[in-house]
Amino acid sequence: MAEASGSESARLAALYSYDILDTPFEPQFDELTALASEVFAAPIAVINFIDRDRQWFKSEIGLGVRETPLETSFCVHALLEEDMMVVADAQNDDRFAGNPLVSSATGLRFYAGAIIRSREGEPIGTLCILDYQPRPFTTAQQRALRTLANQVMAQLEQKRALRESELSKRDLARLNEKLNQRDASREQAMAMISHEMRNPLSPIMMTLDALGMKPSLDEDVSRGVDTIRRQTKHLIRLIDDLLDTSRITTGKVSLQKRPLQLRQVVSRSVEMIQEELDKKSHRLHITVPEQELIICADDVRLNQLFSNLLNNAIRYTPEAGQISFEVQVLDDTRLQVTVSDSGIGIPRDYIDRIFGSFVQVPKTGGHVGGLGVGLHLCKHIVHLHGGEINALSDGQGSGSRFTVTMPIIDKAG
Ligand code: ADP
Repeated sequence: MAEASGSESARLAALYSYDILDTPFEPQFDELTALASEVFAAPIAVINFIDRDRQWFKSEIGLGVRETPLETSFCVHALLEEDMMVVADAQNDDRFAGNPLVSSATGLRFYAGAIIRSREGEPIGTLCILDYQPRPFTTAQQRALRTLANQVMAQLEQKRALRESELSKRDLARLNEKLNQRDASREQAMAMISHEMRNPLSPIMMTLDALGMKPSLDEDVSRGVDTIRRQTKHLIRLIDDLLDTSRITTGKVSLQKRPLQLRQVVSRSVEMIQEELDKKSHRLHITVPEQELIICADDVRLNQLFSNLLNNAIRYTPEAGQISFEVQVLDDTRLQVTVSDSGIGIPRDYIDRIFGSFVQVPKTGGHVGGLGVGLHLCKHIVHLHGGEINALSDGQGSGSRFTVTMPIIDKAG
């Protein structure tokens, strides 16, 4: 096997990039050889690719073989031309007169081949016609042969583009699978760490509660116990949020739904945030309809939802702000809860993203000690209850409003 020169290797690389050699017959190529044979009344028409040591026919009419050696090839000579090679009578051409395919009485006499060039400009083959009779080949016929050769090239390009896009689709799928695996092990590690960290906190909290109730504590110690209690409570909340987030991701959150009086859930949620509210001297306006509203919900999760929204309103509103919690009956089947504040607001490009996990608006989330998972949990709690949650804000400094719509099962009065 001959070693390929620099330009020959580039030519072969271009040819191999189409992955066309030794592929079966295909109608889109066979139609082009059939057309060439018919239009030019040629007994032989071939789509020929010049490999390292053979010529291989993607489509052929009148030959009956798929490949022949290069020694007797017309096309090898054609590749040296710019665009096309026409041999009107091979017996009168020094390059072919001695060719065994030409010299016999019934040998080949006429050849016309249009070069097929790769996108990189490498000559990789020809669309050619041959005849046993010498004949002229007009400029118009040459143009027509060129057009057909261009069609061969277009088919090759299309096949290569399709293959490349399938390859990149496969690459993407593999990458996706790897990412999913990494996500799953990260989730698992996070769940395990959170669980291990959460376990000792309950007895610590109980001990602190018991200590705090002792009347004999001196003032310094009592203040210290209070601080530790507050910080431990905060830690418990963060870890519980983390545990909930991984439960949600793994689909392990289920609801314990039962009929609840909405008014009671609201007052319990407000109780939970009262201390924080007072600390920042905010005013909270609560509007709940007079009538009794019964919803079918999980009270722990609903408390978590309302207190999360209220906590955010407290945290993201500068001292002495206005916060409102409003319940409205929308129609016979739905109610709407709106939590609004006069706080820092949410930039427009974050409004849709803040319900994602670990998403915080830069320079607002981090400094107040959250993890960016609270709203993610809220969204899931609302969805599990068959509702919808939305955020609204006119931008930074304009306050925020969160609306939750949920189904009602009963309303009296
Ligand atoms: P975090 O623990 O950071 O508060 P959340 O998921 O509850 O996590 O909220 C995500 C981000 O959305 C917050 O970090 C904050 O940037 C923004 N955000 C939430 N609620 C409000 C609000 N009421 N006003 C302004 N920004 C808010």
